[in-house]
Amino acid sequence: MLRASQRAVVFTGAGISTESGIPDFRSPGGIWTKMSPIDFEDFVSSAEMRREAWRRRFAMEEMFSTVQPNAGHLAIADLVRRGKASHVITQNIDNLHQQSGVPAEQVIELHGNTRYAKCLDCGARLELDPIRRHFEAHGEPPDCSACGGLVKTATISFGQAMPELEMARAEQATLACDLFIVLGSSLVVYPAAGFPRLAKRIGARLVIVNREATEQDDLADLVIHAAIGETLGAAVAAID
Ligand code: NAD
Ligand code: ZN
Repeated sequence: MLRASQRAVVFTGAGISTESGIPDFRSPGGIWTKMSPIDFEDFVSSAEMRREAWRRRFAMEEMFSTVQPNAGHLAIADLVRRGKASHVITQNIDNLHQQSGVPAEQVIELHGNTRYAKCLDCGARLELDPIRRHFEAHGEPPDCSACGGLVKTATISFGQAMPELEMARAEQATLACDLFIVLGSSLVVYPAAGFPRLAKRIGARLVIVNREATEQDDLADLVIHAAIGETLGAAVAAID
């Protein structure tokens, strides 16, 4: 299928990054078996929830600032470099596709990016280091220096509106693809999980690589229940 494809789209979830050491959400031992997520509404309405969200984020800083792309990320970057894949649509917030060499304009981040922050009111981009220094000095995150708005990591929480531009770009890329490859997503979080269905509807082939069964295995042309790194690495190596 990779040999025949001319415009593949790669769609990734937390499972592509577990081999880099970032836990996913729903596997046994995943993050949500340990703590429940903070909804957008709670973040906006409660100063204590904002402090808790930032405490959690800073507790993960060491991990996010040192993780490296793994064999799966590198195989995807290779597909993009060869012109096989037009875009990588990701639910991940870890920035590893960009770090693996996929040009930023070909990465579509449906759930944002945790490596920087944004003002919820004016949308200004803010860096994490000064926020952390403020948090350590005052026990509170700072407000936006431009408009006084609330400052949150540039990620999309449950209950928060999806980013319009990224959703439109993901739809365009999917409508133009001939092969849609899902890597490491349980396909339960919507609207993100709507893209493989859309690909199938327009006649593209659908491939799912995931350790466990997903919600859309029955739709796929090919399902491989195995680890992503070695599976995709071998597939890409076998193209020519
Ligand atoms: P998920 O946790 O629901 O599903 C991950 C799937 O990947 C699981 O079914 C698991 O069996 C599979 N998997 C894990 N490691 C694998 C491997 N090495 N090889 C093959 N399969 C593997 O994740 P999701 O579908 O992405 O949805 C959850 C949400 O979690 C997303 O919205 C995303 O924003 C967020 N998230 C992101 C990160 C990250 O940025 N790295 C980490 C955790 C959660
Ligand atoms: Zn602002």
